[in-house]
Amino acid sequence: MRRIDVLSLYTNDMSFYGDMGNVLIVSKRLSFYGFEPVVHFYNPGDSFPDHVDMILGGGGQDSGQKNIFDDLQMRGEKLRQLSTQGVPMLMICGMYQLFGKYFLTNSGKKIPGISVFDVYTEATSDRLIGNLVEESELFGRLVGFENHAGQTYFSSPLTPLGKVTSGGGNNSKDGIDGVIVNNTIGTYLHGPVLSKNPKLADFLIRKAQLERYGEEQLPSSPVLRRIDELAAKGNEVASRRPR
Ligand code: GLN
Repeated sequence: MRRIDVLSLYTNDMSFYGDMGNVLIVSKRLSFYGFEPVVHFYNPGDSFPDHVDMILGGGGQDSGQKNIFDDLQMRGEKLRQLSTQGVPMLMICGMYQLFGKYFLTNSGKKIPGISVFDVYTEATSDRLIGNLVEESELFGRLVGFENHAGQTYFSSPLTPLGKVTSGGGNNSKDGIDGVIVNNTIGTYLHGPVLSKNPKLADFLIRKAQLERYGEEQLPSSPVLRRIDELAAKGNEVASRRPR
């Protein structure tokens, strides 16, 4: 059986609003596609697995971000190298911010990031909170929930994950959410985001398979076809919800 190694990054401090669910969803989908999913949980001080095919990170409070940033700096070079190599990664909210250059909190603390993304984040008193809907060129309509004080700006021209149709996203001005660099995605969508947006999950799985086994096409799965019909309904209903 083909094995796929998934790393859940800083699960203890960085898993808000069900973001840890993304790890479960990816594992289940991998099994339905006939892979053997192996999940590694990584927290500060742990040893980094020798081989990783996909990395998932979630959101967290400013205090959680303060707990992990030192360790993250230590792992920065490795994570930048894996991202450049094309290893798929999904970083939600707090981890998205720390995959950028820095997050300046409301209390004036500047938490350094690892600059996988050429973006920076500064907190304002205008917290962006509520349902978030966006149109993505790659994945169609994406829905989720956002709650962040940090507002994220691109420092150079970058590709956003989607154009916001309802909600805030990266900040209250630009009308975009997230970013994609190589196969590394940052976004403010919690949810867990993969539950109602399975195309995003399959992107991560396809790229992981490509990286490890040299082929991108996924086998068909009747079970997942049924699950994805339900997910599409969930997406539709959620997209009509008030903010
Ligand atoms: N603490 C960060 C902020 O408020 C991230 C929040 C989150 O991950 N939901 O901007």
